[in-house]
Amino acid sequence: MGKTNKSSSKAQKRKRIQDTQRKETKVKSSDRRKWHLEWEEYFMALAFLSAQRSKDPKTKVGACIVNKDKRIVGMGYNGMPNNCKDEDFPWGKGQTAEDNKHLYVCHAELNAVVNKIQADIRGCRMYVTLFPCNECAKIIIQSGIEEVIYYKMPDMPADKTKAEEKTEKIKATQKMFQYKNIVKLREYENKQEGETVFKIETKDSKCRVMISL
Ligand SMILES: [Zn+2]
Repeated sequence: MGKTNKSSSKAQKRKRIQDTQRKETKVKSSDRRKWHLEWEEYFMALAFLSAQRSKDPKTKVGACIVNKDKRIVGMGYNGMPNNCKDEDFPWGKGQTAEDNKHLYVCHAELNAVVNKIQADIRGCRMYVTLFPCNECAKIIIQSGIEEVIYYKMPDMPADKTKAEEKTEKIKATQKMFQYKNIVKLREYENKQEGETVFKIETKDSKCRVMISL
């Protein structure tokens, strides 16, 4: 009995200390907004926002390049080359090779690199909504980007040959990046609890964007 009283008074004391600590923290951070976007969420959300500019009916990809000072130095999404009008080029896979979008579309990673606003992007990070293909992996390496954070792997086509082709491209990217650890590669991880929802809505509904990561 005595022992129980002793341990319960200890528990009360611990609770009092915790309450005081909580109060102090509350006072100190009373002006600070508790929930906010973490850096990683911010950059990945911008990549997703950028992807919404894409005209591709199937795959919309966005990329965001960030330097060591956490400044955004390049943004891109998958689209037709400059001055090649969207309406004059195919957005599907078509019946003939010529009608296949893959011959023309510039991937988000390529656009983010060529859109860069600082001459040298060596040592930068790239946030991209989809795992980079082998062609983009080469561009990323050549630009000197040292880390790629991707949101997800591409969906596999139902067609066996096409699925194999895609798998080979993924393997080639991994092989190049992992070779002497040229480019660090990691999947995006949500560090906040629950789902992150990034929402912008103006009062007059002229601009509405909602992104769930
Ligand atoms: Zn690519």
